[in-house]
Amino acid sequence: MLINPIKFYRPQTIQEAAELYSSLDSVKLLAGGTFVVNNLKSSKKAGRKTNDNLISLKGINELKGSSLSKGSLTINSMATITEIFEFSGLKDNLSVLKDACSTLGTTQIRNMATIGGNIACRYTWTELPAVLIALEATLNFADKNNKPKSMSAEEFFLNSAKTDDILTSIVIEHDTDSFCSYQRFTRSAAIDLPLGALCIRTDIASGCFSNTKVVLNTTNSFPKRDSTLEAFLNGKKAADNIADSALNNIDENILGKLNNEYQEHMFRISIKNAVKNIIKDLKTK
Ligand SMILES: Cc1cc2nc3c(=O)[nH]c(=O)nc-3n(C[C@H](O)[C@H](O)[C@H](O)COP(=O)(O)OP(=O)(O)OC[C@H]3O[C@@H](n4cnc5c(N)ncnc54)[C@H](O)[C@@H]3O)c2cc1C
Repeated sequence: MLINPIKFYRPQTIQEAAELYSSLDSVKLLAGGTFVVNNLKSSKKAGRKTNDNLISLKGINELKGSSLSKGSLTINSMATITEIFEFSGLKDNLSVLKDACSTLGTTQIRNMATIGGNIACRYTWTELPAVLIALEATLNFADKNNKPKSMSAEEFFLNSAKTDDILTSIVIEHDTDSFCSYQRFTRSAAIDLPLGALCIRTDIASGCFSNTKVVLNTTNSFPKRDSTLEAFLNGKKAADNIADSALNNIDENILGKLNNEYQEHMFRISIKNAVKNIIKDLKTK
Protein backbone atom coordinates (compact mmCIF):
# COMPACT_ATOMS: atom_id res chain seq x y z
CA MET A 1 0.00 0.00 0.00
CA LEU A 2 1.27 3.44 -0.90
CA ILE A 3 -0.35 5.09 2.13
CA ASN A 4 -1.15 3.99 5.66
CA PRO A 5 -4.73 2.79 6.27
CA ILE A 6 -7.00 5.82 6.63
CA LYS A 7 -10.73 6.26 7.19
CA PHE A 8 -12.27 8.20 4.31
CA TYR A 9 -15.37 10.44 4.63
CA ARG A 10 -17.23 12.16 1.82
CA PRO A 11 -19.84 14.57 3.27
CA GLN A 12 -22.41 16.18 0.94
CA THR A 13 -22.86 19.50 2.78
CA ILE A 14 -20.69 22.00 4.66
CA GLN A 15 -22.80 21.29 7.77
CA GLU A 16 -21.95 17.57 7.59
CA ALA A 17 -18.26 18.32 6.93
CA ALA A 18 -18.13 20.70 9.93
CA GLU A 19 -19.76 18.08 12.19
CA LEU A 20 -17.26 15.43 11.11
CA TYR A 21 -14.35 17.84 11.41
CA SER A 22 -15.27 18.74 14.99
CA SER A 23 -15.99 15.15 16.09
CA LEU A 24 -12.92 13.35 14.66
CA ASP A 25 -9.37 13.37 16.04
CA SER A 26 -6.29 13.07 13.84
CA VAL A 27 -8.20 14.40 10.84
CA LYS A 28 -7.25 16.13 7.60
CA LEU A 29 -9.34 17.89 4.96
CA LEU A 30 -8.86 16.78 1.36
CA ALA A 31 -9.57 19.10 -1.59
CA GLY A 32 -7.83 18.34 -4.92
CA GLY A 33 -5.26 16.21 -3.10
CA THR A 34 -2.14 17.46 -4.95
CA PHE A 35 -0.39 18.11 -1.63
CA VAL A 36 -2.34 15.87 0.76
CA VAL A 37 -1.94 12.65 -1.22
CA ASN A 38 1.76 13.33 -1.89
CA ASN A 39 2.28 13.99 1.82
CA LEU A 40 0.48 10.78 2.82
CA LYS A 41 2.72 8.82 0.46
CA SER A 42 6.01 10.48 1.43
CA SER A 43 5.21 10.31 5.16
CA LYS A 44 4.54 6.59 4.94
CA LYS A 45 7.77 6.09 2.98
CA ALA A 46 9.69 8.04 5.64
CA GLY A 47 8.07 6.00 8.43
CA ARG A 48 6.16 8.98 9.86
CA LYS A 49 2.70 8.64 11.39
CA THR A 50 -0.12 9.98 9.23
CA ASN A 51 -3.67 11.14 10.00
CA ASP A 52 -6.27 8.48 10.83
CA ASN A 53 -9.17 10.26 9.09
CA LEU A 54 -9.59 12.10 5.81
CA ILE A 55 -12.61 14.28 4.98
CA SER A 56 -12.96 14.84 1.25
CA LEU A 57 -14.70 18.10 0.28
CA LYS A 58 -15.32 16.83 -3.26
CA GLY A 59 -18.96 15.83 -2.70
CA ILE A 60 -20.02 19.29 -1.46
CA ASN A 61 -21.73 21.17 -4.28
CA GLU A 62 -21.93 24.40 -2.23
CA LEU A 63 -18.12 24.57 -2.41
CA LYS A 64 -17.95 24.35 -6.21
CA GLY A 65 -18.02 26.97 -8.99
CA SER A 66 -17.65 30.73 -9.30
CA SER A 67 -20.15 33.54 -9.86
CA LEU A 68 -20.08 37.24 -10.63
CA SER A 69 -22.98 39.22 -9.27
CA LYS A 70 -23.66 42.76 -8.05
CA GLY A 71 -20.07 43.80 -8.68
CA SER A 72 -18.41 40.96 -6.75
CA LEU A 73 -16.74 37.76 -7.82
CA THR A 74 -17.29 34.77 -5.53
CA ILE A 75 -14.98 31.80 -6.06
CA ASN A 76 -15.97 28.78 -4.01
CA SER A 77 -13.05 27.00 -2.40
CA MET A 78 -13.29 23.76 -4.44
CA ALA A 79 -13.00 25.63 -7.77
CA THR A 80 -9.96 24.24 -9.57
CA ILE A 81 -7.25 26.45 -11.06
CA THR A 82 -8.42 25.43 -14.57
CA GLU A 83 -12.05 26.30 -13.77
CA ILE A 84 -10.99 29.74 -12.50
CA PHE A 85 -8.85 30.30 -15.62
CA GLU A 86 -11.84 29.40 -17.81
CA PHE A 87 -14.38 31.53 -15.91
CA SER A 88 -15.75 34.11 -18.33
CA GLY A 89 -16.20 36.89 -15.73
CA LEU A 90 -12.47 37.58 -15.24
CA LYS A 91 -12.34 41.11 -16.69
CA ASP A 92 -10.64 44.37 -15.56
CA ASN A 93 -8.94 43.93 -12.15
CA LEU A 94 -10.11 40.29 -12.05
CA SER A 95 -8.18 39.40 -15.22
CA VAL A 96 -5.00 39.18 -13.13
CA LEU A 97 -6.40 35.95 -11.66
CA LYS A 98 -6.54 34.52 -15.18
CA ASP A 99 -2.88 35.48 -15.70
CA ALA A 100 -1.81 33.84 -12.44
CA CYS A 101 -3.84 30.67 -13.10
CA SER A 102 -2.50 30.36 -16.65
CA THR A 103 1.09 29.72 -15.52
CA LEU A 104 0.51 27.96 -12.18
CA GLY A 105 2.03 24.45 -12.13
CA THR A 106 1.32 22.08 -15.00
CA THR A 107 -1.91 21.20 -16.83
CA GLN A 108 -2.39 18.16 -14.57
CA ILE A 109 -1.89 20.24 -11.40
CA ARG A 110 -4.20 23.00 -12.63
CA ASN A 111 -6.92 20.42 -13.37
CA MET A 112 -6.77 18.93 -9.85
CA ALA A 113 -5.60 21.71 -7.52
CA THR A 114 -8.22 23.94 -5.92
CA ILE A 115 -7.99 27.57 -4.88
CA GLY A 116 -8.89 26.48 -1.32
CA GLY A 117 -5.89 24.14 -1.19
CA ASN A 118 -3.61 26.80 -2.67
CA ILE A 119 -4.59 29.20 0.13
CA ALA A 120 -4.93 26.82 3.09
CA CYS A 121 -1.94 24.52 2.49
CA ARG A 122 0.47 26.80 4.40
CA TYR A 123 3.26 26.44 1.86
CA THR A 124 4.80 29.91 1.51
CA TRP A 125 5.50 29.60 -2.22
CA THR A 126 1.98 29.03 -3.62
CA GLU A 127 0.92 31.74 -6.01
CA LEU A 128 -2.66 32.86 -5.50
CA PRO A 129 -2.13 34.41 -2.03
CA ALA A 130 -0.15 37.41 -3.42
CA VAL A 131 -2.85 38.04 -6.03
CA LEU A 132 -5.64 37.83 -3.45
CA ILE A 133 -3.89 40.26 -1.09
CA ALA A 134 -3.38 42.75 -3.95
CA LEU A 135 -7.06 42.42 -4.96
CA GLU A 136 -8.16 42.96 -1.32
CA ALA A 137 -10.00 39.64 -1.31
CA THR A 138 -12.13 38.48 1.62
CA LEU A 139 -11.84 34.84 2.72
CA ASN A 140 -14.96 33.17 4.12
CA PHE A 141 -14.77 30.18 6.45
CA ALA A 142 -17.17 27.86 8.25
CA ASP A 143 -15.95 26.99 11.74
CA LYS A 144 -16.43 23.57 13.31
CA ASN A 145 -19.97 24.58 14.41
CA ASN A 146 -20.64 25.71 10.81
CA LYS A 147 -20.69 29.35 11.94
CA PRO A 148 -19.50 31.72 9.19
CA LYS A 149 -16.32 33.77 9.70
CA SER A 150 -14.60 36.24 7.38
CA MET A 151 -11.16 37.73 7.20
CA SER A 152 -9.17 39.71 4.64
CA ALA A 153 -6.58 37.71 2.69
CA GLU A 154 -3.94 40.12 3.97
CA GLU A 155 -4.82 39.43 7.62
CA PHE A 156 -4.92 35.67 6.99
CA PHE A 157 -1.37 35.59 5.58
CA LEU A 158 -0.03 38.01 8.20
CA ASN A 159 -1.22 35.34 10.64
CA SER A 160 0.81 32.71 8.68
CA ALA A 161 -2.35 31.19 7.11
CA LYS A 162 -3.28 29.38 10.35
CA THR A 163 -6.81 28.03 10.49
CA ASP A 164 -8.83 25.18 11.99
CA ASP A 165 -11.85 26.11 9.88
CA ILE A 166 -13.13 25.11 6.46
CA LEU A 167 -12.40 27.75 3.83
CA THR A 168 -15.67 28.08 1.90
CA SER A 169 -15.25 30.97 -0.55
CA ILE A 170 -13.21 33.95 -1.67
CA VAL A 171 -14.91 37.23 -2.56
CA ILE A 172 -13.30 39.98 -4.66
CA GLU A 173 -14.85 43.30 -5.74
CA HIS A 174 -14.99 43.77 -9.50
CA ASP A 175 -13.34 47.11 -10.22
CA THR A 176 -13.45 48.38 -13.79
CA ASP A 177 -11.03 51.25 -13.12
CA SER A 178 -8.04 49.59 -11.49
CA PHE A 179 -4.98 48.07 -13.18
CA CYS A 180 -3.12 44.94 -12.12
CA SER A 181 -0.08 42.97 -13.17
CA TYR A 182 1.19 39.58 -11.98
CA GLN A 183 4.75 38.39 -12.61
CA ARG A 184 6.43 35.14 -11.59
CA PHE A 185 9.82 33.60 -12.18
CA THR A 186 11.25 30.12 -11.68
CA ARG A 187 14.69 28.80 -10.76
CA SER A 188 15.22 27.47 -14.29
CA ALA A 189 13.19 26.75 -17.43
CA ALA A 190 13.00 23.08 -16.39
CA ILE A 191 11.43 23.75 -12.96
CA ASP A 192 7.86 25.12 -12.83
CA LEU A 193 7.77 25.97 -9.14
CA PRO A 194 8.00 29.71 -8.56
CA LEU A 195 11.17 31.15 -7.01
CA GLY A 196 9.44 34.51 -6.69
CA ALA A 197 6.28 36.29 -7.72
CA LEU A 198 4.60 39.64 -7.28
CA CYS A 199 1.33 41.37 -7.92
CA ILE A 200 0.77 45.11 -8.31
CA ARG A 201 -2.72 46.65 -8.25
CA THR A 202 -3.35 50.36 -8.63
CA ASP A 203 -5.93 52.98 -9.45
CA ILE A 204 -4.79 55.63 -11.89
CA ALA A 205 -6.20 58.99 -10.78
CA SER A 206 -5.51 62.03 -13.04
CA GLY A 207 -2.74 60.02 -14.74
CA CYS A 208 -1.01 59.16 -11.43
CA PHE A 209 -0.69 55.95 -9.40
CA SER A 210 -3.02 55.93 -6.45
CA ASN A 211 -4.12 53.46 -3.78
CA THR A 212 -1.38 51.10 -4.98
CA LYS A 213 -0.84 47.65 -3.51
CA VAL A 214 2.48 45.91 -4.18
CA VAL A 215 2.63 42.34 -2.87
CA LEU A 216 5.89 40.40 -3.04
CA ASN A 217 6.09 36.64 -2.66
CA THR A 218 9.73 35.79 -1.95
CA THR A 219 8.63 32.13 -1.48
CA ASN A 220 10.59 31.79 1.79
CA SER A 221 7.88 33.55 3.80
CA PHE A 222 4.20 34.36 3.19
CA PRO A 223 3.61 37.20 0.69
CA LYS A 224 3.95 40.71 2.08
CA ARG A 225 3.13 44.21 0.92
CA ASP A 226 6.08 46.42 0.03
CA SER A 227 4.98 49.71 1.58
CA THR A 228 8.20 51.47 0.45
CA LEU A 229 7.40 50.85 -3.21
CA GLU A 230 3.71 51.61 -2.68
CA ALA A 231 4.60 55.01 -1.13
CA PHE A 232 7.04 55.72 -3.97
CA LEU A 233 4.49 54.92 -6.71
CA ASN A 234 1.49 56.70 -5.19
CA GLY A 235 1.15 60.19 -6.67
CA LYS A 236 3.74 59.54 -9.44
CA LYS A 237 2.76 60.08 -13.06
CA ALA A 238 2.18 56.76 -14.84
CA ALA A 239 4.95 57.27 -17.42
CA ASP A 240 7.61 54.86 -18.75
CA ASN A 241 10.53 56.30 -16.72
CA ILE A 242 8.80 55.38 -13.46
CA ALA A 243 9.44 51.66 -14.07
CA ASP A 244 13.24 52.23 -13.83
CA SER A 245 13.08 54.51 -10.79
CA ALA A 246 10.78 52.00 -9.03
CA LEU A 247 13.78 49.67 -8.75
CA ASN A 248 15.56 52.02 -6.37
CA ASN A 249 12.56 52.24 -4.07
CA ILE A 250 11.98 48.66 -2.99
CA ASP A 251 11.86 47.66 0.68
CA GLU A 252 15.42 46.39 1.24
CA ASN A 253 14.25 44.49 4.34
CA ILE A 254 12.34 42.20 1.99
CA LEU A 255 14.92 41.99 -0.82
CA GLY A 256 17.81 41.75 1.68
CA LYS A 257 16.41 38.45 2.99
CA LEU A 258 16.49 36.74 -0.40
CA ASN A 259 18.53 33.61 -0.93
CA ASN A 260 20.65 34.67 -3.86
CA GLU A 261 21.54 37.38 -6.33
CA TYR A 262 19.61 35.71 -9.16
CA GLN A 263 16.40 35.90 -7.14
CA GLU A 264 17.03 39.57 -6.28
CA HIS A 265 17.82 40.38 -9.92
CA MET A 266 14.65 38.60 -11.11
CA PHE A 267 12.56 40.51 -8.57
CA ARG A 268 13.89 43.81 -9.89
CA ILE A 269 13.14 42.79 -13.51
CA SER A 270 9.68 41.58 -12.52
CA ILE A 271 8.83 44.81 -10.70
CA LYS A 272 9.94 46.81 -13.73
CA ASN A 273 7.86 44.60 -16.04
CA ALA A 274 4.79 44.85 -13.81
CA VAL A 275 4.95 48.66 -13.73
CA LYS A 276 5.54 48.76 -17.51
CA ASN A 277 2.55 46.46 -18.14
CA ILE A 278 0.28 48.68 -16.07
CA ILE A 279 1.39 51.75 -18.05
CA LYS A 280 0.87 49.87 -21.34
CA ASP A 281 -2.65 48.83 -20.26
CA LEU A 282 -3.43 52.41 -19.30
CA LYS A 283 -2.39 53.63 -22.77
CA THR A 284 -4.59 51.05 -24.53
CA LYS A 285 -7.67 51.47 -22.32
C1 LIG B 1 4.13 19.07 -9.07
C2 LIG B 1 3.47 20.25 -8.43
C3 LIG B 1 3.65 21.50 -9.00
C4 LIG B 1 3.03 22.62 -8.42
N1 LIG B 1 3.23 23.83 -8.97
C5 LIG B 1 2.68 24.92 -8.39
C6 LIG B 1 2.89 26.21 -8.92
O1 LIG B 1 3.59 26.41 -9.89
N2 LIG B 1 2.26 27.26 -8.30
C7 LIG B 1 1.49 27.08 -7.19
O2 LIG B 1 0.94 28.05 -6.67
N3 LIG B 1 1.28 25.87 -6.68
C8 LIG B 1 1.85 24.80 -7.25
N4 LIG B 1 1.65 23.58 -6.72
C9 LIG B 1 0.87 23.48 -5.51
C10 LIG B 1 -0.60 23.36 -5.84
O3 LIG B 1 -1.08 24.57 -6.27
C11 LIG B 1 -1.25 23.04 -4.60
O4 LIG B 1 -0.83 21.72 -4.44
C12 LIG B 1 -2.76 23.11 -4.70
O5 LIG B 1 -3.25 24.38 -4.99
C13 LIG B 1 -3.35 22.62 -3.45
O6 LIG B 1 -4.71 22.44 -3.74
P1 LIG B 1 -5.38 21.02 -3.57
O7 LIG B 1 -6.80 21.25 -3.89
O8 LIG B 1 -4.67 19.96 -4.30
O9 LIG B 1 -5.17 20.85 -1.99
P2 LIG B 1 -4.99 19.55 -1.11
O10 LIG B 1 -3.69 18.90 -1.41
O11 LIG B 1 -6.21 18.71 -1.13
O12 LIG B 1 -4.93 20.28 0.32
C14 LIG B 1 -3.82 21.12 0.66
C15 LIG B 1 -3.98 21.59 2.12
O13 LIG B 1 -5.02 22.54 2.22
C16 LIG B 1 -6.02 22.10 3.15
N5 LIG B 1 -7.31 22.47 2.56
C17 LIG B 1 -7.70 22.24 1.29
N6 LIG B 1 -8.91 22.79 1.07
C18 LIG B 1 -9.28 23.38 2.23
C19 LIG B 1 -10.42 24.14 2.64
N7 LIG B 1 -11.44 24.39 1.80
N8 LIG B 1 -10.46 24.61 3.90
C20 LIG B 1 -9.44 24.38 4.78
N9 LIG B 1 -8.34 23.67 4.46
C21 LIG B 1 -8.26 23.18 3.19
C22 LIG B 1 -5.86 20.58 3.25
O14 LIG B 1 -6.28 20.07 4.48
C23 LIG B 1 -4.34 20.46 3.11
O15 LIG B 1 -3.71 20.74 4.33
C24 LIG B 1 2.23 22.45 -7.27
C25 LIG B 1 2.04 21.18 -6.70
C26 LIG B 1 2.65 20.09 -7.27
C27 LIG B 1 2.41 18.75 -6.65
